[in-house]
Amino acid sequence: MEKLQAIRGMNDILPEQSLTWQYLESIFQKVVAGYGYQEIRFPVLEQTQLFKRSIGEVTDIVEKEMYTFDDRNGDSLSLRPEGTAVCVRAADQHGLLYNQQQRLWYHGPMFRHERPQKGRYRQFHQFGVEAFGMAGPDIDAEIIELSKELWRQLGLTDYLTLEINNIGSAADRKTYAAALSAFLETRKESLDEDAIRRMHTNPMRVLDSKNPTVQQVLAGAPQLSAYVGEESHEHYQKLTSLLDVLGIAYKENGRLVRGLDYYNNCVFEWTTDILGAQSAVCGGGRYDGLVEQLGGKPTVAAGFAIGEERIVLMLDELNKVPAQALRPIDIYVVVSTQNLSAQGLELATEIRKSHPSLGVLCHCGGGKPASQMKRAFASGAQLAIILEETDSASTQLKLRMLDDSNRSEIIDVDQIGSKLEEFIVISR
Ligand code: ATP
Ligand code: MG
Repeated sequence: MEKLQAIRGMNDILPEQSLTWQYLESIFQKVVAGYGYQEIRFPVLEQTQLFKRSIGEVTDIVEKEMYTFDDRNGDSLSLRPEGTAVCVRAADQHGLLYNQQQRLWYHGPMFRHERPQKGRYRQFHQFGVEAFGMAGPDIDAEIIELSKELWRQLGLTDYLTLEINNIGSAADRKTYAAALSAFLETRKESLDEDAIRRMHTNPMRVLDSKNPTVQQVLAGAPQLSAYVGEESHEHYQKLTSLLDVLGIAYKENGRLVRGLDYYNNCVFEWTTDILGAQSAVCGGGRYDGLVEQLGGKPTVAAGFAIGEERIVLMLDELNKVPAQALRPIDIYVVVSTQNLSAQGLELATEIRKSHPSLGVLCHCGGGKPASQMKRAFASGAQLAIILEETDSASTQLKLRMLDDSNRSEIIDVDQIGSKLEEFIVISR
């Protein structure tokens, strides 16, 4: 029978890889906890309307990337393509937003029907933070600083660049969109089908065009920066001086508009050179109007989302995951004859109790000592403990390092507690 395969662009994360993911997620959780952010979990499936109203009808995500279907009741549902809109829906629904400040984080799978390639998948994972009820720019600086701290702890600082832009208020962008649309109308003959379609519905999306002819036209187009109002300017200037004080370097990029409609004022992206075309690993900014746009009371907000796959690719490529995080276990217990199996299980349990940070695997399923040792070497453990029967029918333990040192020693069962620390690194 033909075997079924996973859906294109949706990856299995196998045990060896999942250690890197666990490492990444543990650092992320440690960092956000350090800044007082609390976790929120929400469903992967939402009403399609939620994304249409927030991300925008005329965006790549909503026009062509969502997994949308009617359920058995005929309701239109979509797999979440991102977390911010869902976070707002959930936080507002449960009364967390009005007249309050919230610092929240989430992580989990997102779904977009894009062309799969390195760093771009149809099911991918994001972790993100969302801060509500703070008008900034201090909170903007905080979330940027938080992301930078994450890169520091992961050893990625040298490989990432912060790009920022001021995209103005919703009103500024409305005026700008009208001007851009009028300009594009005059160059209609040089535009492609996509650009012509968006010219009136969402002209700013035309700025994202990858078509060189369209890009040429855009070189002469009105600039968003000329339409940004006084208030946004002030906000942005305060933010950049905060970044200066915090020692956070940034590159100003006037073309950075982000692919979602809900942003305003400051937007930012962290990019890298080492992933080819998929250079953005984190994107965010303010979205002061979104809560109200989704039916809540006006609540200012800012946040970002990180693409986990791209960070995992960087960690792998740069060998940045510490060896101890990649070690699935520390000790492999070899049971040289089957009548020692109860003792083997007991010994493993005792070590787990006395040294809770250690991973101990006790060989199960029988087999000759030599083949058990082979598994011990392949397991990635630091140390093998071999239970052996002595001539006098008592049990002795042979400790055998699994590295190149070949160090080994025979000890009595009751010596194990003191001997372990002589042999291996206990802290994980
Ligand atoms: P891109 O420009 O690469 O398409 P985006 O602007 O669509 O990114 P956002 O919606 O801002 O991305 O999502 C935040 C982050 O999520 C991105 O910076 C990226 O790291 C990651 N990401 C987005 N889409 C994908 C995908 N299809 N596969 C893997 N990671 C993704
Ligand atoms: Mg995209």
